[in-house]
Amino acid sequence: MMMDLKSELEQYGEVAEQVSFKTMTTLRIGGMARFVVYPRTTLALTQIVREIQEAHLPYKVIGKGSNLLCSDECFDGVVIRLDRTFTDFYFDHEECYAEAGCSIIALSYEMVKHGLAGLEFASGIPGTVGGVTFMNAGAYKSSLSDVIQEVFVLREGRCEWISKEACQFSYRHSVFHDHPDWIILAVRMKLQKADPKEIRELMENRRHRRLDSQPLDYPSAGSVFRNPTERPAWQYIEELGWRGKQIGGAKISEKHANFIVNVGNAQAEDFLALVEEIQKKVKEKYAIELIMEVEKFNWR
Ligand SMILES: Cc1cc2nc3c(=O)[nH]c(=O)nc-3n(C[C@H](O)[C@H](O)[C@H](O)COP(=O)(O)OP(=O)(O)OC[C@H]3O[C@@H](n4cnc5c(N)ncnc54)[C@H](O)[C@@H]3O)c2cc1C
Repeated sequence: MMMDLKSELEQYGEVAEQVSFKTMTTLRIGGMARFVVYPRTTLALTQIVREIQEAHLPYKVIGKGSNLLCSDECFDGVVIRLDRTFTDFYFDHEECYAEAGCSIIALSYEMVKHGLAGLEFASGIPGTVGGVTFMNAGAYKSSLSDVIQEVFVLREGRCEWISKEACQFSYRHSVFHDHPDWIILAVRMKLQKADPKEIRELMENRRHRRLDSQPLDYPSAGSVFRNPTERPAWQYIEELGWRGKQIGGAKISEKHANFIVNVGNAQAEDFLALVEEIQKKVKEKYAIELIMEVEKFNWR
């Protein structure tokens, strides 16, 4: 007898049905996902992908959902989450090997314990190693591509290490944007020896700067727009006088004009309407196209 997809997936990991993206994203916005699976091992993950493909359903790997604007629609597919089981990391001299589900914040603090520097820029980015690699996330003029050496990837049924060059990193971009079916399993990073006291102080300093400048008391997905080459995105929004502008439950933060926060049960449509109004106005006034850094997922 053929098993249903849920029973098939349960052989390889924990499975939940009908899970809201509100509980899987930092914005706390979005509809339901039909299945969510936490693969037990890499082998289990390869089987999960096979099962999903045989069932002709789409899948989406997510980390902490800290860069996602999910639509209010149901996602008739499988969300694969690595942040419970793919959380091993190892330090070997100045190198660090970390699985994709590791929290990058936790890893940056581990790095300090080992007297190493290189990840301090990431100590306030609430994502996983997988999500940060996908996005080539960064801050303070550094990004993950500065430290990454190789990425362990599951693609076309095979697990293989691919070089940094093959990852084609650029500003908030990597080759993984062009291959949404590839799954980042782990990374190898090269760090540098440093004085733990100095790195800790730098990280503490930056933590305070974030607390002072970002609306961390509300759900958000970080900066909404990429910074154009001319000047930071927040300056255009600031000059429009749009801090505090609100549509439904989505509001341009009073504290940081490039953040849109969920001030109470925001719908995905509210958030997007605000994004589109900003884009339209900035284009009219400055002839600049603001491009979203936050990824829209499951929109028709
Ligand atoms: C308060 C706040 C502050 C932030 N500050 C910064 C900042 O300073 N700099 C910055 O760059 N970003 C920042 N961000 C945005 C966000 O944290 C980063 O983009 C982060 O890299 C997303 O990681 P994630 O694990 O949450 O990925 P998710 O949002 O879950 O996913 C993002 C993308 O990565 C893909 N992905 C995730 N894991 C994998 C995997 N294993 N294999 C393949 N694809 C994968 C997903 O499919 C999706 O397309 C901030 C966000 C918030 C809420």
